[in-house]
Amino acid sequence: MTPDEALERAEREGIHRLRIPTPFAVGRVNCYLIEDEPLTLVDTGPNSGKSLDELEQQLRALGRSLEEIELVVLTHQHIDHLGLVEIIASRADAEVAAIDVVAPFVENFGDDIEADDRFAAELMLRHGIPEDVVIALRSVSRSFRAWGARAKVTRPLHDGSDLPLRDRRFEVQHRPGHSPSDTLLWDSDRRILIAADHLLAHISSNPLISRPLDGSDERPKALMTYIASLERTRELPAEIVLPGHGEPITDHRSLIDQRLTLHRRRAEKMFRLIAARPRTAYEIAQEIWGNVAVTQAFLTLSEVIGHLDLLADEGRVREVSDGGLVRFEAVG
Ligand SMILES: [Zn+2]
Repeated sequence: MTPDEALERAEREGIHRLRIPTPFAVGRVNCYLIEDEPLTLVDTGPNSGKSLDELEQQLRALGRSLEEIELVVLTHQHIDHLGLVEIIASRADAEVAAIDVVAPFVENFGDDIEADDRFAAELMLRHGIPEDVVIALRSVSRSFRAWGARAKVTRPLHDGSDLPLRDRRFEVQHRPGHSPSDTLLWDSDRRILIAADHLLAHISSNPLISRPLDGSDERPKALMTYIASLERTRELPAEIVLPGHGEPITDHRSLIDQRLTLHRRRAEKMFRLIAARPRTAYEIAQEIWGNVAVTQAFLTLSEVIGHLDLLADEGRVREVSDGGLVRFEAVG
């Protein structure tokens, strides 16, 4: 099955892809309209006039209006996916569903983002990112905030539970890693998986380090969590995976295998750098990606720390803290 054929099949099953513009490097975000009862929209696009216009246009092209939406399901906490939720919920009087662990985050959006930024800034300083970069990133993040929104989660979803519509039944699967709240919708009858950013065809999904949703200060091991989630998804007999960006995936097992190989190779590359001499995560990021744009600094740091977690878990590297600055060294 080609990606186009997968989209056609999804359409025949009443799932329509809406490609909503975002101001972010990732480009358009995929939202999915499910023609069923209730009329369901999976993800919304960011909070901007342009995104709202395009969403309404694309709904009209399908013979629908925004006011008809009865249920919005959020796949995870990132602003390109949830920004219009408040506007849709109020204009359409729609229910809002999201995984239970993320409900407080969505309901207090903005307050928590402040704590998220503080968490990220401390992490960056501890791992060697220069202070001016950290300050610049915080202001970027502050300006991004307007593309998000808060909304009351009227229908909390639970991992492993069912989300039944009139003509179909989704199993809700909490598969954190890309973010702490990644939620998949699995239709086992049709073998269709709505996966958002958990698995993307054209780019490896970033296991971003996020502040834990339970409010604890402990740094999550995002890549290890992500790999465990991918391994579970690999077991599903999915024929079509509908992602949050880009084209449908029709061979998720081989794609997941490629991603696992990539992470293994990256971890070994980092191990060689550390074996040569102890380094901070930032030094490793620079060694691998050079001087990336400021906006990418947290992303590459997340990548590096994620892979160092794998190596630490195998007992091959350890963290050494020196006056608040963390370096990684090879063991033995
Ligand atoms: Zn995302």
